[in-house]
Amino acid sequence: MKITSVKAFILHVPVTGSQIADSTHSISHWGVVGAQIDTDNGLTGYGFTGTHAHLPGDQLIARCIETCHAPLLIGEDASDITRLWQKLARNPALQWIGRAGITTLSHAAIDVALWDLKAKAAQQPLWKLLGGQAREKVRAYNTDIGWLSISDDKLVEGAQRAVAQGFTGIKIKVGSTVERDLRRLAAVRKAVGPDVTVAIDGNGKWDLATCKRFCNAAQAHDVFWFEEPLWHDDVTGHAQLAATTAIPVALGEQLYTTDAFAEFFAQQAIDWVQPDVTRMAGLTDVLRVCDTAHSFRLPVAPHAGDMSQVHVHLSYAHPACEVLEYIPWIKDCFTEPAEVVDGYFARPALPGAGTTPTAAAWAQYRQPVA
Ligand code: MG
Repeated sequence: MKITSVKAFILHVPVTGSQIADSTHSISHWGVVGAQIDTDNGLTGYGFTGTHAHLPGDQLIARCIETCHAPLLIGEDASDITRLWQKLARNPALQWIGRAGITTLSHAAIDVALWDLKAKAAQQPLWKLLGGQAREKVRAYNTDIGWLSISDDKLVEGAQRAVAQGFTGIKIKVGSTVERDLRRLAAVRKAVGPDVTVAIDGNGKWDLATCKRFCNAAQAHDVFWFEEPLWHDDVTGHAQLAATTAIPVALGEQLYTTDAFAEFFAQQAIDWVQPDVTRMAGLTDVLRVCDTAHSFRLPVAPHAGDMSQVHVHLSYAHPACEVLEYIPWIKDCFTEPAEVVDGYFARPALPGAGTTPTAAAWAQYRQPVA
């Protein structure tokens, strides 16, 4: 299965309700910036990273795929995933200009495309290739009801609607003011009752003092985890918070490398581990984080930069993955959408990694690569 061509693509797909915001971002579209890899046996693999649909930035990622990574892949055996991961991640020329960032995001798209190819060649859904089913069902939690841009009334309505649809977990955004966020958390907890897990996500906005003050009061509302309470790289701050609150600390969506995760593990700064195949250099590196988390007996809840198209396969196959994020923005762009039925993700059945775009998505959302 020799690689004959590597091309980049960009899709910009609208979010629910045309605009959403958390404590640090406000976006109208999700960016699907991908790699399409053709092989001499007629198969095509697709992989992608996730962005905030900033076209100039997306074009840099696309250019990195086509001009920096692609020349190292042409003529290679696509099934040599580990060796090709090493070849790209340890390319001295790229390491010099970026061991994280665009070089990694572009690598993510390629690595996932190689896994897609491998699963298609084996005529199996990816989860089967990853060792088969480790769990009966993958529980979903709904993030799309909890944006900071949603009014208090609509937030409560959305939470109730999600529970009525069968979700047993939801996540709401915090990071505005302590008072407002506590009021919203209390209202949601009251509305959904004690049996639904309610996580919160600060997107790295607050400082340690604010987080401590918030956590002291929030503990009464049975918070499942506090995600990205502090700045993404602040290992010591997260360790200090984790040591002083009963609320579990979750993070990982902005960590690019296994070394970054290793620091958080070493300082006991993390309770829930949230790697993302679109942020790290693909599934190959995320599997390493999942294995390490499992060895520390820490649960994994993958972050949905892929809107769970790939992570649903990982979550069915890896014993560390306890729960998976649901945001429905881009699912209908793929031949096998990541669907939730009665609160659980449907187990994928088609060969591949769930990353093959439909012709309709291609026609409707495609942006110029350069
Ligand atoms: Mg988050």
